[in-house]
Amino acid sequence: MTEAINGCCETNNNWQGGAFDLAIVGAGCGGFSGAIAASDLGARVALIGHGTIGGTCTNVGCIPSKTLIRATETLHQSAVAGRFAGIRGAARLEDWRALIAQKDEFVARLRQTKYVDLLPSYPNVTYVEGLAQILSAGVRVDGGLIEAPKVVIATGARPDVPQIPGIDTVPYLTSTSALALERLPASLLVIGGGYVGCELAQMFARAGVRVTLALRSRLLPESEPEIGAALERIFRGEGIEVRGGLVYSRVRRTETRVVLEALERGAPVALDAEQVLVATGRRPNTEALGLDALDIALEPDGGIQVDDRMRTTRPGVYAAGDVTGRDMFVYMAAYGARLAAENALNGDTRRYDNRTMPAVIFTDPQVASVGLTESEARRSGHSVRTTTLLLDQVSRSLAARDTRGLVKLVAEQNTDRLLGEHILAPEGADSIQTAVLAIRHGMTVTELADMVFPYLTTVEALKVAAQSFSKDITKLSCCAG
Ligand SMILES: Cc1cc2nc3c(=O)[nH]c(=O)nc-3n(C[C@H](O)[C@H](O)[C@H](O)COP(=O)(O)OP(=O)(O)OC[C@H]3O[C@@H](n4cnc5c(N)ncnc54)[C@H](O)[C@@H]3O)c2cc1C
Repeated sequence: MTEAINGCCETNNNWQGGAFDLAIVGAGCGGFSGAIAASDLGARVALIGHGTIGGTCTNVGCIPSKTLIRATETLHQSAVAGRFAGIRGAARLEDWRALIAQKDEFVARLRQTKYVDLLPSYPNVTYVEGLAQILSAGVRVDGGLIEAPKVVIATGARPDVPQIPGIDTVPYLTSTSALALERLPASLLVIGGGYVGCELAQMFARAGVRVTLALRSRLLPESEPEIGAALERIFRGEGIEVRGGLVYSRVRRTETRVVLEALERGAPVALDAEQVLVATGRRPNTEALGLDALDIALEPDGGIQVDDRMRTTRPGVYAAGDVTGRDMFVYMAAYGARLAAENALNGDTRRYDNRTMPAVIFTDPQVASVGLTESEARRSGHSVRTTTLLLDQVSRSLAARDTRGLVKLVAEQNTDRLLGEHILAPEGADSIQTAVLAIRHGMTVTELADMVFPYLTTVEALKVAAQSFSKDITKLSCCAG
């Protein structure tokens, strides 16, 4: 039987009685990556998807957020164009709905070309639509059993809702609904200062919404404190009200507003806005899978527990991507699911390694990091030295008349090895892969300082920062020599 699924794709649903080597549950980036890897190995794969094909990244995550962030960045760039003598910017937002429609069209196109249109190229992969439950013999979908000796779970995660009294009584937005808003609110209260909260707070502020960012601790609590503090100053400079160190008491609704009551340094405060967006993390999608019955253990945060081969606590069942509750980036979902599929088919030969995982946050300036932060390095027993380079020492930033940001390096005291790089810089994300390679290949900061870097580039900040371990960089000539 061949049928159209949710109007999305012609799908061969003739799986009843089909023989499969592997069943993959979840047809997001992780699921597709695992299915392609398994197909490349010649395996017969059942790929089971529920909801919109393509999962979070394409439909409600990376793609829609990054295109809207880029769009509102043009408004900001226009507003600050006057830093160059003789130039005055004039961009303005005229039609938010048109921007959302353009975003939707872009998302639909990518979903088609990167997911739906791929399926016919992999005849070994049978796409099945339905909510899956894992059984000992395979996977149950719509009352039927897909028999497979091995299963990979890649069911992703969804926005979590914080346990604040009253939250269920207000019409809150999540990242998913916020990215689909057809009308901008006049004001928005964003609860949560992780990457989703930061990216969306700045995006809406640049679109003209009055944004308040409410945080329990500080901005980007897992990043280097210098980066969180600098980004907070930048946000304030753009008119975003940042309220940190809050103890939330309750959320309530008035006729026209949503109000968050909290304690700020012990004093009661009430933060209100027309709409509220909760951005306090993501919850792995495990409830429908029937994991209890199979003794598949979860982590305390709700993610499926896996070992370094992506094996769950049930032999033959693997998990990867956001459903494991860790390394919630799309490239890690793809990497983990590929490993899981290969291990399921080839005897668990591949080991998951996230030691040089780059992490990027698409604020402006962007935040990008790899390796250990200073406190992580100290906690894990390294004796370290660090350097923090402000961008007013980087020619690229000076020429752009935009010195917002810094680069922090963490190096091992005895060996001089680079342990971590942490960037806050306009377009800084594109520079992080150089540090990924440096750390992966055990380079020292002296070697980095001696290397030739192109002038004037943002990545040159890595060289200048490395030089600053041993030199007064204010005494260097302009091209870091
Ligand atoms: C706003 C936002 C912005 C982001 N930006 C970035 C970014 O810029 N860069 C980046 O690297 N990452 C980003 N991410 C994270 C990224 O989207 C995720 O890490 C990635 O999509 C996870 O992929 P996955 O395959 O694990 O899960 P998903 O893509 O979520 O796919 C899981 C699929 O499984 C389906 N499913 C669930 N339960 C079942 C079931 N029982 N049976 C069958 N199917 C089921 C789901 O409906 C879904 O389609 C962002 C996320 C958000 C929310």
